[in-house]
Amino acid sequence: GCSSDRGDDTEPTTSSTAGAAGSEVCIEEGAAIGVALPQKTSENWVLAEQLFNDGLTEAGFEPIVQFGNSGVTEQQNQISAMLEQDAQVIVVGAIDGSQLGSQLEAAHEAGAPVIAYDRLVLNTDAVDAYIAFDNFRVGELQGEALLQGLAERKGEGPYNIELIAGSSDDANSTPFFEGAMSILQPKIDDGTLTVVSGQTTFEQAATAGWQAQNAQSRMDTIMSGSYSGDTELHGILSPNDTLARAALTSVDQAGKDTPVITGQDSEVESVTSIVAGEQYSTIYKDTRQLVAQTIASIEELAACGEIPVNDTEQYDNGVKVVPAFLLDPQIVTQENAAEVYADDATLGPLTEG
Ligand code: BGC
Repeated sequence: GCSSDRGDDTEPTTSSTAGAAGSEVCIEEGAAIGVALPQKTSENWVLAEQLFNDGLTEAGFEPIVQFGNSGVTEQQNQISAMLEQDAQVIVVGAIDGSQLGSQLEAAHEAGAPVIAYDRLVLNTDAVDAYIAFDNFRVGELQGEALLQGLAERKGEGPYNIELIAGSSDDANSTPFFEGAMSILQPKIDDGTLTVVSGQTTFEQAATAGWQAQNAQSRMDTIMSGSYSGDTELHGILSPNDTLARAALTSVDQAGKDTPVITGQDSEVESVTSIVAGEQYSTIYKDTRQLVAQTIASIEELAACGEIPVNDTEQYDNGVKVVPAFLLDPQIVTQENAAEVYADDATLGPLTEG
């Protein structure tokens, strides 16, 4: 068998691969694997639940997959309970990236490696790897898509736009917003874009809990306050599809033309809307790929190997740079939807016609 020195406090390696706490860990065949998911705020999380259950079972593990539907405390309790059930690896999509320190430290003390799935966990060294799509890149792609859509659909500028950000407790929301603003800010500065509401900071743009109703009521207020009369709204930066659809509802109810709007997640309703020429863009982050990469990493640990990573610089969690395996997000518009979804049994057929 493999020798294991779980539970010591060796410093994590910064080499190109990462094992738990930098030490060799061999999880057992048939081991319980805890997967703590956040709330069902978008379709990708629902799909992940099924893929983890099926994939881990098929790989010979015993999956314990749970949603923290009622919030942070529930997710904290779920992780503790997973450890009591001898989970030998903890995979976590954190509701609040900064609130899991003591549970994840308990995982390390029990010898269980911790993998941050899709969302980084912050301010703790009890995280061995981050497996995700490159979220800063997601934001850049959204910013680029907004500019491209405005040029295609709204004639020559300048353009009036509004900004929507994700939930401020989700560690992904900042890289999404900052990635997008790295593209948009220069265009705001040179007068090409005007944020008519004046709400340009992350805090002003954030959407508590990623809830559609919160984005919609904020947009309602903006529409009545800043877009009365003839003022047109040409474009909206939206961090995901659920919030994009909510914002479109708000603009429609205000009696205005459909703005160019971005999204993310390739949700069924949004893909249909893109094909119909309404929503401008989304992002494809194939959940099957992300879950498969995570399960492959767990199989590596079972073979006494290390979690494969391909980036050791980008994702600093406040305590350390977390070794990451980053996948490439893809931008999707009406123009390339059929091509991008060609191999996706659910989305591919939506683009035919
Ligand atoms: C995910 C997005 C998703 C959002 C809301 C984020 O952490 O990366 O894909 O839209 O959560 O569920």
